[in-house]
Amino acid sequence: MESFRHNLTPVEVKAFLATVKDLAENLCILYCVKVPVPCPECGGEETCQSGAVSFYSSSSNKITHELKACLKCGYKNLSTLLTIEKM
Ligand SMILES: [Zn+2]
Repeated sequence: MESFRHNLTPVEVKAFLATVKDLAENLCILYCVKVPVPCPECGGEETCQSGAVSFYSSSSNKITHELKACLKCGYKNLSTLLTIEKM
């Protein structure tokens, strides 16, 4: 995780990683940014958006998954990007 980029406080990073832990089991999170997008669950003003690479992906710097999480209520969402290389 040396290259992990974010604009969160250390406390928020911990909260984010704890929130997405179940979803990100096989993912290496590349970045996480706090954006002024309201949470669909609790209406909180900010959510965290994050890009991740699957451990099973052959190229380690192409983002394969997007994570969204709310640090307030624990809402989280994982979406797979359609750019995954063909087998
Ligand atoms: Zn929320």
